[in-house]
Amino acid sequence: MRAFWILGIAMAAGMSANAQNCVVALYVSTDLSLPTAMLSLAEIRTSAIFHNIGVTVRWRIGAPTARAAHDACGEPLAVRIENSAQANVTAEALAYSAPFADSGVSIHVLLDRVMRIGPASYAPVVLAYVMAHEIAHVLERTGAHSRDGVMKAHWDRSDYWRMESGGLAFSAEDVESIHSGIAYRVRHAGRNETSMNGEALSERLVSHE
Ligand SMILES: [Zn+2]
Repeated sequence: MRAFWILGIAMAAGMSANAQNCVVALYVSTDLSLPTAMLSLAEIRTSAIFHNIGVTVRWRIGAPTARAAHDACGEPLAVRIENSAQANVTAEALAYSAPFADSGVSIHVLLDRVMRIGPASYAPVVLAYVMAHEIAHVLERTGAHSRDGVMKAHWDRSDYWRMESGGLAFSAEDVESIHSGIAYRVRHAGRNETSMNGEALSERLVSHE
């Protein structure tokens, strides 16, 4: 019964997103040489994670253009894929984000650490979930974490197994919060508001204990 109730919440949230009929624009940039097809495989997986909760994302290469598309859910989000050498974050962090930034690069993924999680063939899956996690922080405009699912602060072994099978999803609370955040972005599109908090949020998604 509980499973049906959660599904009902997710479907209701998904329907409200469809009513907005907008697309979350994501721009990816990197100076690194990623393994062949790694990024495109990860993008497909991330898109599916959001599609499952009624959110459509559109990927672009490079820096965001000045004018957002008319069907965009507010300003585009910029994802930067880099290595950890220059990052001022904890040793366990796979990525970090600035959930309150309204422009500029709000998401930084640390590729060398993502690659170390498992075998090379698994890297696109981890990259997909790391991006989904950080994108959700920005859409929800919060650094808060959930007890279960994609937005857990620390993924454990069972979570990584569930990623591979596609079984790791957003919690019902996160689904609701993501849709609320998208609605906020649509309402505030083009206002170019100043950041509420310029501090980057460091992520520690992996427990090495
Ligand atoms: Zn997080």
